[in-house]
Amino acid sequence: MAKLGSEENPLLVAIVGSGPSGFYAAEALIKSDISVKVDLLERLPSPYGLVRSGVAPDHQKLKQVIALYQKTADSPDFNLIANVNVGTDISVEELCQSHHAVIMTSGAETDRKLGVAGEDLNGSYTATEFVGWYNGHPDYRDRQFDLSHDVAVIIGQGNVAADVSRILSKTVDELKHTDIAQHALDILAESKIKEIHVIGRRGPAQAKFTPKELREFGELSDCNSIVRAEDLILNPESEIELLEKSNIASKKIYDQFCEFSKRETDPAKSRNCYFKFLMGPKELIGTTKLEKVILEKNQLSGEPFKQSARGTGETIELETGILFRSIGYRGVPIAGVPFNESWGTIPNEKGRITDNNCNIIPQLYTAGWIKRGPSGIIGTNRACSVETVQCLLEDIVKLDNSEIKAGAEAIYTILDRKNIRHICYDNWKKIDIKEIERGKLKGKPREKYTYIAEMLSEI
Ligand code: NAP
Repeated sequence: MAKLGSEENPLLVAIVGSGPSGFYAAEALIKSDISVKVDLLERLPSPYGLVRSGVAPDHQKLKQVIALYQKTADSPDFNLIANVNVGTDISVEELCQSHHAVIMTSGAETDRKLGVAGEDLNGSYTATEFVGWYNGHPDYRDRQFDLSHDVAVIIGQGNVAADVSRILSKTVDELKHTDIAQHALDILAESKIKEIHVIGRRGPAQAKFTPKELREFGELSDCNSIVRAEDLILNPESEIELLEKSNIASKKIYDQFCEFSKRETDPAKSRNCYFKFLMGPKELIGTTKLEKVILEKNQLSGEPFKQSARGTGETIELETGILFRSIGYRGVPIAGVPFNESWGTIPNEKGRITDNNCNIIPQLYTAGWIKRGPSGIIGTNRACSVETVQCLLEDIVKLDNSEIKAGAEAIYTILDRKNIRHICYDNWKKIDIKEIERGKLKGKPREKYTYIAEMLSEI
């Protein structure tokens, strides 16, 4: 048998999940100095994962990264197999038979739970649902959000909470030239929300927004961003945190809160967005649907950079009919792959998948949020995927090279036998072109198809 990775015997790799980490893994493999063939499998007919359905519609610049992924997709060594659910339509075991290695890059598809009573009341939603809905993700197309209330509450102070709060704070004019899904824009146009409360369990020095994202709240056309000066008083440990040079982002965030606290509230603006600190939800109350949230005041304890929030027992009530839990994403298990339930990730060593006893499992690798948890910006996934691919390439001599692997052909045989329609990259390009055409008519970058059947009917 020719050497694995040679022209005559290229390394066949199946990657599961076409978000940033999947594309970065494909790029690293294709740019390596060995001969490879990459099959990138995706559950939806559309690629790009959270860049398409997570990045906020008013952050079009961030989506320009797709141009890089398109370059990777144009390589003759790249093949997209979309509209295929790994775990149900085809198993990981089958991918291991058809390919030399499999890289799991399936991301973090669900949310962490708050673990408080009333969390699942009607009116209490996850950020994932709302973000998926306004971004036209087919899984969330038919979700209904009742925006007829005066007050909305967002739990969490990370960038996803910023996205959700900002979308609720913006006017239709601020959103109508983005790629926001039309069904969402229509509902947001009728929104009665006047107050948006963005609640952090720790203090203003620990908010996890990035400075640019928080700054945008100062530029909203019809919404005041409000912080009370007395909420910005820091404990000594937080002061130490903000003096640390490497913590410059938190200092910028804090300074931005200070700037908001000095602003006059403009009464002509129809909405107010309040940033509140040191409180967390204790209970969500309602009979058939959410009516109010009980928030417990917190205090910080612990050394600088290790401060955690503890309830003080003092509570306040906030009447609201709509609440979004935005406290971080979580991975979901895939049949045939080990999963760490506590972390919501696949156990691994630098991307080499292990069982729960830390034994490395041959052929299986992972990258992105399902490898390390939901943190960092899009570009963070590049280094993460490169690390995994380096390990895979180091392992090449250990991979099974005793027989020819069938690669994509074996996948097609299995899918065709089950009558599962699969989509290649050229098929996706047809959908892409149609979406852009539909968008042009409305002055939008694209109008997404939000039902899978609609996408498939365009091919
Ligand atoms: P995140 O940055 O981890 O923020 C989660 C927030 O939820 C934190 O404020 C956290 O507070 C809070 N939280 C966690 N558990 C809680 C609980 N039980 N009760 C109350 N609050 C709780 O997560 P994310 O906002 O989902 O973002 C995920 C990643 O995507 C981040 O790296 C983010 O920067 C990135 N992202 C980037 C952009 C962008 O670049 N524009 C947009 C969206 C997302 P503690 O700090 O106390 O844990």
